[in-house]
Amino acid sequence: MKPAPFAYAKARSVEDAVRLLNEHGDNAKLLAGGQSLMATLNMRLSQPAILIDLNGIPGLDGIALNGGDVAIGALVRHATAAKSDVIARHVPLIAMAMPHIGHPAIRNRGTIGGSIAFADPAAELPACFLALNGEAEITGKNGTRRVTADDFFRGLYETAIAADEMLTAIRLPSATPDMRYGFAELSRRHGDYALVGLAAVARADGAGLKDVRLAYFGVGLTPVRATVAEAALIRGSIDDAVEALDYDMAPPDDVQETGPVKRHLAGVLLRRVAAQMMGGGA
Ligand SMILES: Cc1cc2nc3c(=O)[nH]c(=O)nc-3n(C[C@H](O)[C@H](O)[C@H](O)COP(=O)(O)OP(=O)(O)OC[C@H]3O[C@@H](n4cnc5c(N)ncnc54)[C@H](O)[C@@H]3O)c2cc1C
Repeated sequence: MKPAPFAYAKARSVEDAVRLLNEHGDNAKLLAGGQSLMATLNMRLSQPAILIDLNGIPGLDGIALNGGDVAIGALVRHATAAKSDVIARHVPLIAMAMPHIGHPAIRNRGTIGGSIAFADPAAELPACFLALNGEAEITGKNGTRRVTADDFFRGLYETAIAADEMLTAIRLPSATPDMRYGFAELSRRHGDYALVGLAAVARADGAGLKDVRLAYFGVGLTPVRATVAEAALIRGSIDDAVEALDYDMAPPDDVQETGPVKRHLAGVLLRRVAAQMMGGGA
């Protein structure tokens, strides 16, 4: 199918993009890498009157270590993030997730901001953002506000970004020597959206773990924190943590798999990720 007709505007700056958003309201859509948006336009799931192209806005494509945070601009492409030394050293969870996002052509165009703002519940980066409890920098006509990942995801494809605002960057806590990361997903073919995936962050505590954050993707309407399983893992029992997932999630059936199978796979991934974080490999 072809998209419905739309007008096109190229934003020259963040202020320009926000002005256009305020002018056109719900009739406008922001265009970043286009890797999700173009498909929804072509299938006429979305019929905006105008596309506001963010590509080329200066200052949105940087990756910078600032104190204890890594700031990643909204227009940083997945492929750029995958090659970044700053990300590999200071937010290795993102580097672990990158190879699982689609294929090279998608990673060459898709942006970090587009993925977080789109908030696909089966996508890798929203779950990593939640596991790390990063912060979103959201800019509107009254300036920039920050929202933590815990408060960011509101529902299916719904986030804290209002219709007249845009995501300008995310901030992720930089790794410290005691931090442990785990990432695993199951998909039918490498590069497909995950059937189920898990991004995890913790701190080493002797032979165990503390401050565990488990963020699943592909099991609900948003990325899902498994807080009951987190507590069991902190107590040191992986078996209890796997059982506790019954309290944390009730995955619905989707086009890829049934809910009960997804629930089973969530347990399989938890064992793999726990082994990664405890130094036992995957
Ligand atoms: C074949 C295929 C396979 C894929 N596989 C995967 C996969 O396995 N895992 C995965 O995570 N993703 C996958 N993707 C999606 C890809 O990662 C996208 O790049 C990403 O979801 C959206 O980023 P984008 O920059 O392309 O955003 P766009 O498609 O341009 O925009 C997506 C949505 O976000 C909004 N938006 C974009 N930028 C901003 C911003 N700065 N502020 C506010 N709103 C904004 C747009 O208005 C739009 O509604 C796949 C895509 C394709 C086509």
